[in-house]
Amino acid sequence: MNRPLQIKEEIKRLKHMIQQLEQELSSIQLGCDHEYQNSPLSKTCPLCQHSESLYY
Ligand SMILES: [Zn+2]
Repeated sequence: MNRPLQIKEEIKRLKHMIQQLEQELSSIQLGCDHEYQNSPLSKTCPLCQHSESLYY
């Protein structure tokens, strides 16, 4: 297999993995009982890493 084709296959594989990880993360965040820690620019829940910007 030539290198460009290998790279494309690798990218496809990684995109699929990212999609799975994002799904896993969002399901964790949906089920989380958030305990936000405020910072000047955003608030982040250390339990699930969900964050919200405080800029509107
Ligand atoms: Zn949370």
